[in-house]
Amino acid sequence: MNEPHTVRVACDAMCGGVARWLRIFGVDASYSPDIDDGDLVRHALAEQRIVITSDRRLLERRPFADGRLRHVRLPVGLPLEQQVRYVIQVLGVVPDGPRCSACNGELAPRARADVADRVPARSLIWASEFYQCSRCGEVFWRGTHWRRINAMRQAVERDTDERPPAETPPTNRFN
Ligand SMILES: [Zn+2]
Repeated sequence: MNEPHTVRVACDAMCGGVARWLRIFGVDASYSPDIDDGDLVRHALAEQRIVITSDRRLLERRPFADGRLRHVRLPVGLPLEQQVRYVIQVLGVVPDGPRCSACNGELAPRARADVADRVPARSLIWASEFYQCSRCGEVFWRGTHWRRINAMRQAVERDTDERPPAETPPTNRFN
């Protein structure tokens, strides 16, 4: 099983929702809504990222065929939550502390006083932990979205518990 921060993925232009969730679970997930297939392949090759896509035609490109690029092919038609669980399971990552869901930057803990001008007063009072993105400056705190995140985390961890012990990987694993 890979350590969370050693897995780096590149999400194709259709996988923005998956990218955001992967970042919430600490996976380094690049995503650009405007990227075309050629640029995506070059970017993934340059940074050795595993490509997340459901696009069969993209996967016919040479770097996938000759094994230079690994990928996870998303089954078509799954709801977002199922997609996220599927990707995490295939990658074998253990959910970890979050990265910035907006830009994929790393988050650093911040004291309440440091973020007082960036957080609504009500949240500032009730929230106990604050984080700031080292790249875009976005501030996050444990608030209204946290329950949804925890529910997803629990689902992912259940998947992990149910994962059969080491065996022949399924054929759609990475390539
Ligand atoms: Zn950010």
